[in-house]
Amino acid sequence: MRLSYTTYRLKCIHPFGISRSSYDYYDRVFIYLEQDGFIGRGEAAPSERYNESIPQILEILKSHITLPKNVTNIDEIIEIFDRHTINIKSFRSACLNALFDWWTQQNNIPLHEYYNYSSTISQPTSFTIAIGNINELEKKIEEAKEYKILKVKLGTSQDKEIISIIRKYTDKPIRVDANEGWDLETAIKMTEWLSDKNIELIEQPLPADDIGKMGELKNHSSLPLIADENCRTAIDIEKLVKGFDGINIKLAKCGGVDEALRMIETAKQYNLKVMFGCMVESSIGITALGQLASQAEYLDLDGNLMIKNDPYNGLRIVNGFPVLPEDKGLGLSLKYDYQNEFPE
Ligand SMILES: [Mg+2]
Repeated sequence: MRLSYTTYRLKCIHPFGISRSSYDYYDRVFIYLEQDGFIGRGEAAPSERYNESIPQILEILKSHITLPKNVTNIDEIIEIFDRHTINIKSFRSACLNALFDWWTQQNNIPLHEYYNYSSTISQPTSFTIAIGNINELEKKIEEAKEYKILKVKLGTSQDKEIISIIRKYTDKPIRVDANEGWDLETAIKMTEWLSDKNIELIEQPLPADDIGKMGELKNHSSLPLIADENCRTAIDIEKLVKGFDGINIKLAKCGGVDEALRMIETAKQYNLKVMFGCMVESSIGITALGQLASQAEYLDLDGNLMIKNDPYNGLRIVNGFPVLPEDKGLGLSLKYDYQNEFPE
């Protein structure tokens, strides 16, 4: 099996602002695994928030990961990836996605079928309105007209103004994501203020380190509270029960499909709702999580919709609902304009 990789810069349509940062572009590493005429693809979307970076990943890739010439057992390959990706979860997730894409192509089935999951996705995805110039909100809402739910990034000094402006133009359900941007007092006031504004849920109101204060907020809040930065992997879930109503699972955050499945199981045991989220990613990363999307109660699969240079076709959005490709594997195909840039 041959492993190759390339870095790729995703260019944002609008600066992607959240409470702690704003970026015009994101660098990603695409991983390719090739054997017997099939190419599996994965995408590493490392996040500063979790102390992961592109240079860390490239350093490991440059040191050469040796794979067997002829792979017949994928568990053996996962072990090799576990050894090399160390604790860089976005990297491990990319390697596993490439491996499962390759394996299921070779077995002539789509990835969701490998897990016995339905291809039908019955939840709409939200579409993110990131933090930026508030004079552009009207235009952004217009651009979001195909989507049934808005995800609005807050944690600024203008939070009420942002919601009030959006409410002038649309009454669509809103999911608020504060990205750790509030303190307890602000969060209590904001959950109360938001409670009659058709808000579906609030994601990560407090800094992850303030998890001890979440129980008090939950007592005050009539809106469901979803843990994102507080919930990296399955091991984090037990301690969330007191303060949250659900968790946000992302492949790049948790380390791969296998861990995401473990998180779904654990969340069910504790009666927590499951949201699937993403980083700003191309269709490689988004389509990988999309293959499991029938398992989530809330979907936020819009990372590829935030960029203007997605090289691949994969998961599509039709009337606000994600639709999986019918092809085997992840079902990705390279767009015509990018055919000289990537292996396939
Ligand atoms: Mg979030």
